[in-house]
Formats: sequence, C-alpha cells, structure tokens
Amino acid sequence: MGSSFRLFRIFGIDIKLHLTFALLPLFLGVFYYKDYGLWVGLRAVVLVLLVFVCVLAHELSHSLVAKKYGIRVPEITLYPIGGVASMQRIPRASRQEFTISIVGPISNFVIALLLFFPLYVLLGKENLFSPSLESWPRTFANVFWINPLLGIFNLIPAFPMDGGRILRSLLASRMNYVNATRISVFVGHIFAILFVLLGIWTKHWMLVLIAVFIYLSASNEERMVFYEDNKNRPVPPGG
Ligand code: ZN
Repeated sequence: MGSSFRLFRIFGIDIKLHLTFALLPLFLGVFYYKDYGLWVGLRAVVLVLLVFVCVLAHELSHSLVAKKYGIRVPEITLYPIGGVASMQRIPRASRQEFTISIVGPISNFVIALLLFFPLYVLLGKENLFSPSLESWPRTFANVFWINPLLGIFNLIPAFPMDGGRILRSLLASRMNYVNATRISVFVGHIFAILFVLLGIWTKHWMLVLIAVFIYLSASNEERMVFYEDNKNRPVPPGG
C-alpha cells in the first residue's frame, strides 16, 4: 500500500503506519493546543502514541498465534480506527480462528491488569479513576481505561471485529462454514444498524461512520467466503 510507511520490523513482521494514523497525533495535538494550550496539546500527542502501542500489542498477539499455526503474517498496518494484521489466509479450522481472534481482546485485558497496580501506586487512586488531559498523571490514567474499552469493542460480534470471527468459529464448529459465515454476517448487520440508529439518536456521527464500515465489512466477508466456496467446488461433469 502506497499510503502507509514502514516503522520497524518485529518477529519478522513489518509494522506499518497508515498515513491517516500518522496525521492523527498531529491533528489532535493542534486541535487541543488551539483550544487548551500547549501542554494539553502535547499530552494529546503522547496519549495517541500510547494508544498506538496498545493497538500494536493487540495486533501482534493475533499475528503471533497465527504464525504458530503456520500462517504467514507479512505486515501489520495501523489505521486510526485500529490495526490490521494482514494474514496470508484466515484459517477455516474453527478452533484456530477462535484462538487467533480471541487472543487480541484478551491481550488488552491482560495489559489493563498488569498496568493497574503500578499505575495505582504511581498516579494515585484519585488520578487513575479520573482519566483526562488535565495533567500528566490523568493522561497516563487513560492508558489503563483504553485497554478494557479496546477489548470490549473488539468483542462486539460483528465483522471485521474479532467478535465476528469468534462467533463464526463457534458456529462453524457445529455447522458448515458458509452457513456459519451467513449467520455471523447477519448478526453483524443487526449490530451495524443498531449503531447507526444509536449514532443518529445521540448525534455521534463518528459512530454512524463506524457502523457503515462494519456493515460493509460484514457484507464483504460474506462475499469473499461465497466466492472461495464456489471456486473450490468441483466443476460438475459437462459443466
Ligand atoms: Zn483484533
């Protein structure tokens, strides 16, 4: 992809930053600087970079488990709304898909657990439970809270979230893969529609945008699976 650039390489995986993610700290920094001054602007930039580390840890956990199953993971690209580990294939074995998918959210819960006591001691209870950009301790408090949020958000059973894949793998262990995908895509569409309505109701336009993205991604997953399924189907004699 031309609009992303390589940051570094770890475990044989290229870590790339999409241009939009690279612009995010700059954009937020300037936005907060203009309204709240230099320090808040600076804290916004630092926070984006720390979130970037958490998202990267999440994607790396998917990638390392995938590699354990012999799946090639050439690169991870970080976008403003999350990371994407480009895997050479998504395993159809339901157990593998389940493990690869669930390890991402689990990694965020583990990070939160590991951070809790050190941050509790270093920042103090008062700051840890009042995350904001008001002071440096409260800025670092955000890092604790962002992890369970990332974990829960990714567990929403809608493609392309991990929850969508977890749901499909659970269904695929008791029915065929295409039907499991069809049902998961249907559930994903329901969630997307609910998010659109919620977004319009609360005037959170970002949520509407994300919901549209979820809807399209779910449809795309269905199309891909059907396409592969037809491709692999033996050609009937004379046809
Ligand atoms: Zn994930």
